[in-house]
Amino acid sequence: MAIQGDFREHKQMLKNLGVEPVEVRLPRDLEGLAGLIVPGGESTTIGMLAREYGLESAVRQRLEEGTLAVWGTCAGAIWLAREIPEHPDQPRLGSLDIAVQRNAYGRQVDSFEEDVNVEGFDRPFHAFFIRAPRILRVGEGVKVLARHRDEIVLVRSGKMMAGTFHPELSQDTRIHQLFLDVVLDS
Ligand code: GLN
Repeated sequence: MAIQGDFREHKQMLKNLGVEPVEVRLPRDLEGLAGLIVPGGESTTIGMLAREYGLESAVRQRLEEGTLAVWGTCAGAIWLAREIPEHPDQPRLGSLDIAVQRNAYGRQVDSFEEDVNVEGFDRPFHAFFIRAPRILRVGEGVKVLARHRDEIVLVRSGKMMAGTFHPELSQDTRIHQLFLDVVLDS
């Protein structure tokens, strides 16, 4: 999703994996696509514009049909979240049964990087947390794929995946590969 945020870095990661990325701004851009990455950035801006462009309802419909996989990173995870208790009116997709708190670790200066253990990985993933949200609650059917110091940082539910850190900022393509597996897992 190329509305706002660091979609260019995600494009590069996909290219590194041999996948040709397409920039999505409008509903018609989704045609023929099986997966959508919603990047980190500013979740209010992404949410407002996605609603205005008709992308929010188009993505919701494709998810209901089961014909699209969606992965949100950081602001993207906020966009996917069913609940943002402190900002209940923030425009968002809301399809993933999690509750999130924005900027939960403090301000920009409180950003940090740390190794995270991800289910199925044989070595830790070096994760960048930038004004990261916190996943406060996960609903039934939402699988926790990674935790960092008891905080849930990566989840999957059916064809949706959400994480609070930025895998597109490392050289490690394993989480992008994980999403490709979700896309292909029909
Ligand atoms: N703090 C941002 C927000 O709430 C998300 C930060 C990010 O995506 N790096 O929108």
